[in-house]
Amino acid sequence: MKTFPMFLTMTDRRVVILGGAEQATQKCRLMLKTDARIEVFAPRLDVELQALADAGRITHRTGPITADALRGAPLVFVGTGCPGVDAALHAVASDAGALVNVVDQPDLCDAMTPAIVDRDPVVVAIGTEGTAPVLARQIKTTLERMLDPRLGDLAALAGRLRDYAARRLEPGQRRDLWRWVFNGPLRARHARDGDVPVARAIKDAIRSGAVPAAAPAPVALVGAGPGASDLITLRGVLRLQEADVIFYDRLVDPGVLELARRDAERVFVGKAPGCHAWPQDKINAVIVAAAKQGRRVVRLKCGDPGVFARGAEEAQALQGAGLDYEVVPGVTAASGAAAAVGGFLTERGKSDTLVLTTGRCADGNGIPDWVTHLTRRSNVAVYMGVAAAPDIANSLSRAGILDEVELTAVSNAQRPDQKILRCDATDMVAALDQAGIESPAILFLSRRDASVAQQQVQAAPRRLVAV
Ligand code: SAH
Repeated sequence: MKTFPMFLTMTDRRVVILGGAEQATQKCRLMLKTDARIEVFAPRLDVELQALADAGRITHRTGPITADALRGAPLVFVGTGCPGVDAALHAVASDAGALVNVVDQPDLCDAMTPAIVDRDPVVVAIGTEGTAPVLARQIKTTLERMLDPRLGDLAALAGRLRDYAARRLEPGQRRDLWRWVFNGPLRARHARDGDVPVARAIKDAIRSGAVPAAAPAPVALVGAGPGASDLITLRGVLRLQEADVIFYDRLVDPGVLELARRDAERVFVGKAPGCHAWPQDKINAVIVAAAKQGRRVVRLKCGDPGVFARGAEEAQALQGAGLDYEVVPGVTAASGAAAAVGGFLTERGKSDTLVLTTGRCADGNGIPDWVTHLTRRSNVAVYMGVAAAPDIANSLSRAGILDEVELTAVSNAQRPDQKILRCDATDMVAALDQAGIESPAILFLSRRDASVAQQQVQAAPRRLVAV
């Protein structure tokens, strides 16, 4: 980040605007949203600024613009309409020790004005460091649609009742109170009916201490999706934002964790390279313990929590401890990998059966029967299959079908270091090695013609599609 967003206290701060025409007026309109004392330096004011001066909302100064005249103003806007004059005034304002914003000259700005979604006192500021103002406006439009016009009034009401709630309620009850206000039907009621009925309901709840206790939230087993952070579902994001603690695995994209609340505890329970994995019973125990403390728990797993993720064992442990759980599905790696090569998991007329299988099973369970899964019309997606590639090739060879099978392998699907390989199964062990395909990867196996992704990548060289 070259710039850092902060909210400055403006009450009674002196803000100076240099210029008396349209550019200055625009900055003035922005500053009038705040409690700052606004001074405009210009020989003459346009009609709008003059009207504001006449109404006493800004102070008009006509004296010379010197560093002394500007001293003590923490923020100076420069917008005379003449770039040369603006550059000279920038130097003067900098001399005076102010943070300076020069209209349309990002290189001369110590402070940039963001695009703002204004639900005062709820304010969202969007900045792109001057790279993409159009994008900032698009984001603003999206947020404007998301946030109810009265949301600021509700926040202000909560602010007025905060002390009262603090005097009468325990911290846990207060959290429940504000969750009830902001997450529950009260928020919708406020959007519809405004302050009066909602203020009454909140005061009644505080006075009687009868805050509708949030039903203990079930532990959410959330799918983070494969690779890229934007492949999580909206429901997954919501659960993350509500979570007090998040237990996550190695393959979860770090960008997904960014979507959680800043103060949420993040606990890594995966297997770091070269280290022992957390044993499953230890993971179960920490999840159960956190939920029993009344914390909102998210167990975040890459892909879908129901696919090779040991979700069932965690769900059983929770149930055994008398705790509820919820499964929030995710995009599984096979979907992410097929999409990465522009392919399809099933194709009408070609492949009507999709098998998700693994290269690694529970100890003592042997290996899956890849041969049986590989019919003429199936696609077989093998998870955790790279290390098992020699075993897979041997099985196919023993069944006499090795030379009928094609492989599409995608490692690190949906990540910048994604690799794709397409080859005949006869070559697969060497080809995987040569192409540098390592875990995490999906191996798609299909008998010729019933392919997952092959149709899409046929134009590329047969052996190595893309690395
Ligand atoms: N629950 C996950 C699977 C976890 S098992 C899901 O639904 O996708 C771990 C295996 O998933 C890895 O060994 C690999 O086979 C696969 N995998 C996970 N992320 C992947 C990715 N970004 N690209 C390719 N394979 C991935």
